[in-house]
Amino acid sequence: MRTRFLSLTVVLVTCGIALAAKPTPAPKAATTATPAPTISKPVVDQTAQTIIFCYHRLVDKVRFPGTEITPAVFEEQMKTLKDRGITVIGLQDLLAWRRGEKNIPPRCAVITFDDGWKSQYEVAWPILKKFGYPLTMFIYTEGVAGGSLGGGQAITWEMLGDMRDNGVDIEDHTATHQDLREGHTVMVIGPDRKRTKKKLTGAEYEQWVQNEVVGSKNLLEQRLGIKVNCFAVPFGSYNEHVKEIARNAGYEAMFTVYGQPITWTSPMDALGRYAIEANKPKVFEDAVKTIASSSGGPGGPAVAAVGAQDLQVEPADGSTVRSALPLIKANLSRVGQIDPASVQLRISGLGLVPASFDPKTGVVSYQVTQKLRDKTCTVILSAKSGDKKVETHWTFGIDEAAAGAGVQTGPSATPKKK
Ligand SMILES: [Zn+2]
Repeated sequence: MRTRFLSLTVVLVTCGIALAAKPTPAPKAATTATPAPTISKPVVDQTAQTIIFCYHRLVDKVRFPGTEITPAVFEEQMKTLKDRGITVIGLQDLLAWRRGEKNIPPRCAVITFDDGWKSQYEVAWPILKKFGYPLTMFIYTEGVAGGSLGGGQAITWEMLGDMRDNGVDIEDHTATHQDLREGHTVMVIGPDRKRTKKKLTGAEYEQWVQNEVVGSKNLLEQRLGIKVNCFAVPFGSYNEHVKEIARNAGYEAMFTVYGQPITWTSPMDALGRYAIEANKPKVFEDAVKTIASSSGGPGGPAVAAVGAQDLQVEPADGSTVRSALPLIKANLSRVGQIDPASVQLRISGLGLVPASFDPKTGVVSYQVTQKLRDKTCTVILSAKSGDKKVETHWTFGIDEAAAGAGVQTGPSATPKKK
C-alpha cells in the first residue's frame, strides 16, 4: 500500500512538471497515472427466478377451455403478479440476464402469447399496457391473416407491425404449427394451398422441417424487419435433431409448455412455460407460489452482527488465497436454529449467490464458479434464527499471480449466437 502510494506520487510529480504549461494539468496527470480501466460486466443475481406464462385467446365466453380464458381472469392474474411482488420483465431481459449482461429482480415473470390471435392485439395488449408489462408474441406464419391457416380471428401483419413499433417482442412458433419430429403424419400445404396428410421421412422431411424452423424465422424477419432469436416449439414436441436445426439457424432460446421456474442453470434449448387454461386455474396459482414464497421483502427483523471468527469461515478473515475460484464456507451451528430458506450469501463482485446450506451441520458453502476480479473479496452472510436476523462480514485477499486475467465466464449452457 505504502509503496504504491509513493510510486503514484512520483508519477504525478513528473507529469505535473511536463504539463505545467497546460491549463488543466491535474486531470491529465491522473489519467496518465491510472491504468486503463478493465471492462466489466454488471453483477447479476444468479439466484433470480422467472416464471414464463403462455396464453392463447382471450374471449368473454369460453368455449375451448384448453386455449381460452376470459379478459377478466387475465387481468386478475396480471394484478396478482403485481400484488405478490413479482416483476414482469421482457423475454429479452431474461436472455440478457442469462448472458450475464443485465441484472433482473429476484422474482420475475414473462408474459407470452402463442399462435397470433386478434384478441391478443385487441384485448390482451391494452390490459398489459395498463400495467406497463412487456410481452412476447410467438407467431406461426401460416396462421397470420392471409396465410393458408389464418382464419377470421387471426392476427394481421398490420397488427404485428403496430406491436413491433411499440416495443412488443415478436418471435417464432413455426410455419404450420405441427409436431416437428420425423416419422409423424403431418398436414402438408401444397402450392395451390391444397392440404394433404403425409408421413414425411428422409430428404422430404428435412426440407419440410427446415421450412418450419428456419423458413418461418426468415419470413418473420423479412416481413417485419426484426431479429428473431426465440423459438416456441408447438406442443413441446421436438427432439435433438430439431434443436440442432434451431441452434444452427441462430435461435438463442427454445421454449416448451412444461412450466417450471427458469434459473441461472436452466437449459436454453428447453425453457418451460406455464400454459394458462380456463379449466386449470391451479397452474397459475402454483406457478406464482413456487417463486413468491422465497424470503426477503421490506421491514425485516433487527440484525445481530456475529464475528466471523465464531463461524469458522473459509477463506479465513484477513487471509490470502491463491485461487480466484475459492470455496467459501461458514458454520452457522453456533448461532442457533437457522431457517434454511433464510440463508443468503453475498460476495463482492458476484452479488447474491446460490449457496448450499446443510441444516444438520449448519455449514453454508459456495464454490465460486466465476473468477473473482478484485484483489480483496468481501463476503456477507445472513440468516434468520427465530425472529432474529444474524449477519457476518469478512474479507480475504486473492493473490494477484494466481488470479490470472480475470475473464468472466458465463453459464456453460449459453448457446452460440449468430
Ligand atoms: Zn401454439
